[in-house]
Amino acid sequence: MADPFHIVCPHCDAVNRVAAERLADKPVCGKCAQELFVGKPLDVNSARFDRHVGRNDIPVLVDFWAAWCGPCRMMAPAYAQAATRLEPHARLLKVDTEASQDLAARHAIRSIPTIALFQGGREIARQAGAMDAGSLVAWVQRSARAA
Ligand code: ZN
Repeated sequence: MADPFHIVCPHCDAVNRVAAERLADKPVCGKCAQELFVGKPLDVNSARFDRHVGRNDIPVLVDFWAAWCGPCRMMAPAYAQAATRLEPHARLLKVDTEASQDLAARHAIRSIPTIALFQGGREIARQAGAMDAGSLVAWVQRSARAA
Protein backbone atom coordinates (compact mmCIF):
# COMPACT_ATOMS: atom_id res chain seq x y z
CA MET A 1 0.00 0.00 0.00
CA ALA A 2 1.22 3.49 -0.85
CA ASP A 3 2.06 5.99 1.85
CA PRO A 4 -0.98 7.99 2.95
CA PHE A 5 -1.36 11.51 1.60
CA HIS A 6 -1.29 14.51 3.91
CA ILE A 7 -4.42 16.56 3.23
CA VAL A 8 -5.02 19.89 4.96
CA CYS A 9 -8.62 20.36 6.09
CA PRO A 10 -10.27 23.32 4.29
CA HIS A 11 -12.38 24.04 7.38
CA CYS A 12 -10.01 23.84 10.37
CA ASP A 13 -6.57 23.53 8.67
CA ALA A 14 -5.75 20.28 10.50
CA VAL A 15 -3.38 17.97 8.60
CA ASN A 16 -5.06 14.63 7.91
CA ARG A 17 -3.56 11.39 6.62
CA VAL A 18 -5.63 9.81 3.87
CA ALA A 19 -4.76 6.64 1.95
CA ALA A 20 -4.41 7.37 -1.76
CA GLU A 21 -7.12 4.88 -2.68
CA ARG A 22 -9.52 6.52 -0.23
CA LEU A 23 -9.16 10.07 -1.55
CA ALA A 24 -12.29 9.79 -3.68
CA ASP A 25 -14.40 8.24 -0.88
CA LYS A 26 -15.43 11.58 0.65
CA PRO A 27 -12.90 11.43 3.50
CA VAL A 28 -13.71 13.54 6.57
CA CYS A 29 -11.40 15.53 8.83
CA GLY A 30 -10.24 13.69 11.95
CA LYS A 31 -10.45 16.92 13.93
CA CYS A 32 -13.63 18.75 12.85
CA ALA A 33 -15.43 15.81 11.13
CA GLN A 34 -16.29 17.86 8.02
CA GLU A 35 -15.56 16.68 4.48
CA LEU A 36 -12.02 17.28 3.29
CA PHE A 37 -13.21 17.99 -0.24
CA VAL A 38 -16.24 20.17 -0.88
CA GLY A 39 -15.70 20.83 -4.58
CA LYS A 40 -15.00 24.53 -4.38
CA PRO A 41 -12.02 26.87 -4.13
CA LEU A 42 -10.83 27.99 -0.71
CA ASP A 43 -10.12 31.66 0.06
CA VAL A 44 -6.89 31.94 2.04
CA ASN A 45 -4.76 34.58 3.75
CA SER A 46 -0.99 34.33 4.16
CA ALA A 47 -0.98 31.97 7.15
CA ARG A 48 -3.46 29.57 5.59
CA PHE A 49 -1.66 29.77 2.24
CA ASP A 50 1.59 28.60 3.84
CA ARG A 51 -0.14 25.73 5.59
CA HIS A 52 -2.08 24.50 2.56
CA VAL A 53 0.77 24.90 0.07
CA GLY A 54 3.37 23.55 2.49
CA ARG A 55 1.55 20.58 3.97
CA ASN A 56 -0.70 19.17 1.24
CA ASP A 57 0.73 16.19 -0.65
CA ILE A 58 -1.65 16.77 -3.56
CA PRO A 59 -0.91 19.58 -6.05
CA VAL A 60 -2.22 22.97 -4.94
CA LEU A 61 -3.54 25.40 -7.53
CA VAL A 62 -3.67 29.10 -6.60
CA ASP A 63 -5.68 31.84 -8.28
CA PHE A 64 -4.14 35.26 -7.57
CA TRP A 65 -6.99 37.69 -8.17
CA ALA A 66 -8.54 41.00 -7.10
CA ALA A 67 -12.10 42.32 -6.95
CA TRP A 68 -11.32 45.26 -9.25
CA CYS A 69 -10.00 42.96 -12.00
CA GLY A 70 -12.64 42.26 -14.65
CA PRO A 71 -10.98 39.18 -16.18
CA CYS A 72 -10.55 37.76 -12.64
CA ARG A 73 -14.27 38.07 -11.96
CA MET A 74 -15.03 36.56 -15.34
CA MET A 75 -12.79 33.58 -14.61
CA ALA A 76 -14.22 32.91 -11.12
CA PRO A 77 -17.03 30.57 -12.29
CA ALA A 78 -14.58 28.62 -14.48
CA TYR A 79 -12.20 28.29 -11.53
CA ALA A 80 -15.03 27.05 -9.31
CA GLN A 81 -16.02 24.55 -12.00
CA ALA A 82 -12.42 23.36 -12.27
CA ALA A 83 -12.47 22.64 -8.52
CA THR A 84 -15.33 20.18 -8.94
CA ARG A 85 -13.33 18.38 -11.62
CA LEU A 86 -9.84 18.46 -10.07
CA GLU A 87 -10.70 17.53 -6.48
CA PRO A 88 -9.72 15.30 -4.70
CA HIS A 89 -6.54 15.12 -6.78
CA ALA A 90 -5.71 18.79 -6.30
CA ARG A 91 -6.62 21.58 -3.87
CA LEU A 92 -7.72 24.94 -5.31
CA LEU A 93 -6.99 28.15 -3.40
CA LYS A 94 -7.83 31.78 -4.06
CA VAL A 95 -5.62 34.65 -2.93
CA ASP A 96 -7.08 38.17 -2.91
CA THR A 97 -4.00 40.16 -3.88
CA GLU A 98 -5.44 43.34 -2.30
CA ALA A 99 -6.00 41.69 1.08
CA SER A 100 -2.76 39.66 0.92
CA GLN A 101 -0.30 42.01 -0.76
CA ASP A 102 2.56 40.24 1.03
CA LEU A 103 1.75 37.01 -0.81
CA ALA A 104 1.50 38.76 -4.18
CA ALA A 105 4.88 40.40 -3.54
CA ARG A 106 6.52 37.20 -2.31
CA HIS A 107 5.45 35.39 -5.47
CA ALA A 108 6.23 38.32 -7.77
CA ILE A 109 2.72 38.48 -9.19
CA ARG A 110 2.91 41.12 -11.91
CA SER A 111 -0.47 40.72 -13.54
CA ILE A 112 -3.76 39.19 -12.54
CA PRO A 113 -5.29 36.80 -12.85
CA THR A 114 -2.21 34.62 -12.43
CA ILE A 115 -2.64 30.90 -11.80
CA ALA A 116 0.20 29.08 -10.07
CA LEU A 117 0.58 25.38 -9.36
CA PHE A 118 2.48 24.17 -6.30
CA GLN A 119 3.62 20.69 -5.45
CA GLY A 120 5.55 19.70 -2.34
CA GLY A 121 5.63 23.35 -1.26
CA ARG A 122 7.30 24.71 -4.37
CA GLU A 123 5.93 26.33 -7.48
CA ILE A 124 6.12 24.09 -10.54
CA ALA A 125 4.16 26.13 -13.10
CA ARG A 126 2.40 29.41 -13.57
CA GLN A 127 0.21 30.99 -16.20
CA ALA A 128 -0.95 34.60 -16.48
CA GLY A 129 -4.32 35.49 -17.96
CA ALA A 130 -7.83 34.09 -17.67
CA MET A 131 -8.58 30.50 -18.68
CA ASP A 132 -11.82 28.57 -19.11
CA ALA A 133 -12.54 25.51 -16.96
CA GLY A 134 -11.45 22.97 -19.57
CA SER A 135 -8.14 24.75 -20.18
CA LEU A 136 -7.51 25.03 -16.43
CA VAL A 137 -8.06 21.33 -15.86
CA ALA A 138 -5.89 20.35 -18.83
CA TRP A 139 -3.12 22.74 -17.78
CA VAL A 140 -3.05 21.40 -14.20
CA GLN A 141 -2.98 17.78 -15.35
CA ARG A 142 -0.24 18.47 -17.87
CA SER A 143 1.87 20.52 -15.43
CA ALA A 144 1.50 18.11 -12.50
CA ARG A 145 2.49 15.17 -14.68
CA ALA A 146 5.57 16.98 -15.99
CA ALA A 147 6.79 17.85 -12.47
ZN1 ZN B 1 -11.13 19.92 9.88
